[in-house]
Amino acid sequence: MTKLLIIAGLGPGDPKMVTPTVQEAISTATDIVGYIPYVARIPPRDGLILHPSDNRVEIERAEFALDMAASGKRVLIVSSGDPGVFAMAAAVFEIIDKNPIRWIDVEIQVLPGITAMLAAAAKIGAPLGHDFCALNLSDNLKPWELIEKRLLLAIEADFAMAFYNPRSKSRPEGFEKALNILKSKCANDRPIVFARAISTPKEQIQILTLAQAKPEMADMQTVVIIGSSETKVLLQNGKTFAYTPRYSKLGSPN
Ligand code: SAH
Repeated sequence: MTKLLIIAGLGPGDPKMVTPTVQEAISTATDIVGYIPYVARIPPRDGLILHPSDNRVEIERAEFALDMAASGKRVLIVSSGDPGVFAMAAAVFEIIDKNPIRWIDVEIQVLPGITAMLAAAAKIGAPLGHDFCALNLSDNLKPWELIEKRLLLAIEADFAMAFYNPRSKSRPEGFEKALNILKSKCANDRPIVFARAISTPKEQIQILTLAQAKPEMADMQTVVIIGSSETKVLLQNGKTFAYTPRYSKLGSPN
């Protein structure tokens, strides 16, 4: 009996951004497990059981999916974007790591998807065209001090940055603190992008300067991209783009 658990990324929202590999995995699955809004993206069909679950129960969800896979079902865990970016793939390996024997004969496959920062970056040009980093601003699983430390070091390293989970109703103050740090350390004309619900009918994109940025501009459906000191904004054929050149004027090879 094949025992296989697939962890797949559904992309940022548009069904056309689901890779053919993931589409095929969806079409052959018997059971689909995931956070409610992601499972809602899967069209129901005969022979397919959908198992939506609430946020913040990633470990229970991973365990449930592994048990079903061990019983011979064709199980797919779905995440939005890419499953390896602040999502379910790591949760599955965390629980396997804690129980090395329990699912020893279950094969795991991770199928990539288009992560939010790349979908957002493509919409506005090439803000991540040079070195960049991604930070998860949620302090659910790490202390705020660590977020602040990484932010300060990323500013010092002059990375362009993408912020995931920037601001939730239960923790509105984190993003405000992050913005204040950025405003105190970076030039006030630094480009910042608020990319909300990218590739969905609710999509909204704003390219602003850091001085214009306000905490309320971000929510949990927004990925925020802030340029490096070398990111530029330009008008091309009537549309505003942001891009970071592939080279850096700051460092010389010697
Ligand atoms: N695995 C996902 C990220 C999950 S964390 C991925 O690779 O994209 C959830 C965060 O992702 C959200 O708070 C938001 O910051 C970002 N996000 C997900 N989908 C998005 C979209 N369509 N538009 C903008 N941001 C999105």
